Amino acid sequence: MSFRSVQGMFDILPVQTKGEYPAAIREWQRLERAFRSSAELYGYTEIRTPLIEHTKLFVRSIGDTTDVVEKEMYSFERHRDQLCLRPEGTASAARAYVQHSVQAQEPVSRWYYLGPMFRAERAQRGRYRQFYQAGCEIFGDPGPACDAELIEMLVSLFEGLGISDVTVHLNSLGSAGTRERYRDALLAYLTPHKDSLSEDSQRRLEKNPLRVLDSKAPEDQALVADAPKLLDVLSDDDREHFETLQRYLDAYGVRYELDPTLVRGLDYYTRTLFELKSNSGDLGAQNTLCGGGRYDNMIKSLGGADVPAIGFAMGLERILLALGEQATEKTDSVFIAPLGKDAVSEALVLGRELRQAGIPTEVDGRGNSMKSMLRRANHLGSRLVLILGDNEIERGVVQLKDFQSSDGPDSGSGGKAQSDVPRSDIVAQVSLLLSNGGSMSSAGAAT
Ligand code: AMP
Repeated sequence: MSFRSVQGMFDILPVQTKGEYPAAIREWQRLERAFRSSAELYGYTEIRTPLIEHTKLFVRSIGDTTDVVEKEMYSFERHRDQLCLRPEGTASAARAYVQHSVQAQEPVSRWYYLGPMFRAERAQRGRYRQFYQAGCEIFGDPGPACDAELIEMLVSLFEGLGISDVTVHLNSLGSAGTRERYRDALLAYLTPHKDSLSEDSQRRLEKNPLRVLDSKAPEDQALVADAPKLLDVLSDDDREHFETLQRYLDAYGVRYELDPTLVRGLDYYTRTLFELKSNSGDLGAQNTLCGGGRYDNMIKSLGGADVPAIGFAMGLERILLALGEQATEKTDSVFIAPLGKDAVSEALVLGRELRQAGIPTEVDGRGNSMKSMLRRANHLGSRLVLILGDNEIERGVVQLKDFQSSDGPDSGSGGKAQSDVPRSDIVAQVSLLLSNGGSMSSAGAAT
């Protein structure tokens, strides 16, 4: 008998696993660090909520005609409670916000979260059954300044990661009154065509006609193309909100495309709605990196005060796919390659000195050839390799190779610099190189 992980759910290991799932753990950690530091730079603080919630939380917040709630929940009964694995993070954050009366303690809350979500979808590249989302939520700020700031943060984050072709798609769904008027207009337009709609859409037409706009069925899309546009029926307040948001984005120099067909799969959105897409790397058809919007009615509908809110969630797998090869980066670690028996004891001692200075270090004490040691250093992704042979020990030096530097005597060969550094200086020089991301020449290595 052989055991395998559940379909659509994957292991993330220090080595790259076979198959469609992206990246080894180091790339995940680098992305998570980048997300956390960017969120914290913009004033968000982390929250952690349970993986399991009451099913009715999602029925109430996401909506019972959405794909997520209708088809994709991992639900089960335990102790007579109807429970499920969370399919997304916003409803849990809103539940926690209401449950702990956070609005009574502070007027505005900025939260972020990061963790696994579960949806029983048809698994394919970029679409998994357990997947990771990182997201931010702002409670208590009606925008539109914070809407613009949220979008700008995402654009800057993706730029910083090196995904250069990100496009922002923007729409406004209006507030509740506008939605109501639009619903009537849409119903009046779609009802005469009811028989030509897909089965799913016919069913949803009664309960929630807006969901028809989101349909992927070709027979629906043709009809949707000529449907009345929500942007044409925005109230004055909604229009003002939307236009001011665009002005702020213009001031940032953030480019965006207005996309009136953008509805997104969850029912809770109001006013601002956005998605960020890319065609970089190995993304393929699932090219939405991130989606979000305003959900001004959710806190109230969950039993809280009338608190406006906005947020987004991004799929970490999609971002790793977009990064492709770029995701692999040298780590700020040192690999010591000793040649010869005496060199091994020297290497162990040097390894201890480097670790005492807080530098992650691997000592290869296997007694293998230089070629095999360098292969291992490369596999580990170590940025610096220190070579200690009889010759170096005799001369009181350590040979240092920097696999990130473009300086140095043999910079032409694969972007690595190499030099002899006095044994007594090596810890200080390695620290300097790693701490300021500097090059070997700026660290003043003796060449
Ligand atoms: P949503 O929660 O549906 O608004 O999705 C927000 C983001 O999460 C999407 O833009 C994707 O990047 C990601 N995402 C959603 N569902 C999946 C999935 N099944 N597998 C991988 N990523 C997903």
